[in-house]
Amino acid sequence: IYILAIESSCDETSASVCRDGIILSNVIAGQAVHEQYGGVVPELASRAHMQNIVPVVDKAMRDAGCKMEDLDAIAFTQAPGLIGALLVGAQFAKSLSLALDVPLIAVHHMQAHVLANLIPTEKNGHPDPKPSFPFLCLTVSGGHTQIVLCESPLSMRVIGETMDDAAGEAFDKSAKILGLPYPGGPLIDKYAREGNPARFAFPEPRIPGLDFSFSGLKTAILYFLQENTAADPRFVEKNLADICASIQHRIVTILLNKLKKAAIQTGVKDICIAGGVSANSGLRQSLVDWGQQFRWNTFIPAFQYCTDNAAMIAITAYYKYQAGDFSELRVEPTARAEW
Ligand code: ATP
Ligand code: MG
Ligand code: FE
Repeated sequence: IYILAIESSCDETSASVCRDGIILSNVIAGQAVHEQYGGVVPELASRAHMQNIVPVVDKAMRDAGCKMEDLDAIAFTQAPGLIGALLVGAQFAKSLSLALDVPLIAVHHMQAHVLANLIPTEKNGHPDPKPSFPFLCLTVSGGHTQIVLCESPLSMRVIGETMDDAAGEAFDKSAKILGLPYPGGPLIDKYAREGNPARFAFPEPRIPGLDFSFSGLKTAILYFLQENTAADPRFVEKNLADICASIQHRIVTILLNKLKKAAIQTGVKDICIAGGVSANSGLRQSLVDWGQQFRWNTFIPAFQYCTDNAAMIAITAYYKYQAGDFSELRVEPTARAEW
């Protein structure tokens, strides 16, 4: 079974071809145009998707050694995301499905982030271990922070989520306060490697249950910097690595404390992370450390499957194909989506 999958929910145009659940190609075109605005500009994202989609799909097909007539289904990200961005991928997928007379598969972007953990990968010719069901997934991205209980590929439930900012936003907004360019998450990660995470103590919010909050942290960082730069205008410059390490440490411990709580509540031992923030080296290392301490089996998607990519849409579509879960041509993308 050959499936072509298209992802266009935000500012990455991506296409992937999979054969029987094996990823043959995964092409991702980023959009540098947003950097100068300090955030994604929806209208510009839609236009960039329009420019990118044909070459990106073309390259994904060539990398996979696949011809249009080989395809058995076309998949696309239906929700959630920027509506104008989603429309580009959706219309393209519908047209192909119609022209090739193959089924259309609509995929939920956040479910796909979770299932990125099931994409077959290997090291030195040996397949990597994958989580078994049920597993927990901490999905941390630019727009979401969720703890998901996954009972089977197509049956998952959000058991905790953020009440305000997402973890990725917490990184990006902290970076912005520090005067770093957008998106600041990867830069905080970079500087944090050289810093002392115990140097500055930022507060951990007290939120009941498995939910998260990051807006208080943002405010705490803002006041902390205002106070310190009033005393020393070069405070940030002199202490950048320690500040970044301390911020990162706080975000990571907020995330992992809730994940630990979820593991205890559910009794589940297979634990994954997913989404753009799962590319963070501090989170990756801490997950491994906590996993050893609490006897979890921990899993992290390969780096290229953490941030937005079409391979995760393809693997989700493969499970949907097997379940016969197809969409009508009239299916419409939506900015928000319930599970
Ligand atoms: P969503 O999936 O919620 O719709 P999105 O698709 O925009 O949002 P992703 O592409 O999955 O989100 O993730 C982007 C986020 O990940 C950004 O906030 C970015 O700063 C953050 N991020 C990426 N790499 C790192 C890193 N190494 N450390 C911290 N944050 C990171
Ligand atoms: Mg992005
Ligand atoms: Fe995403």
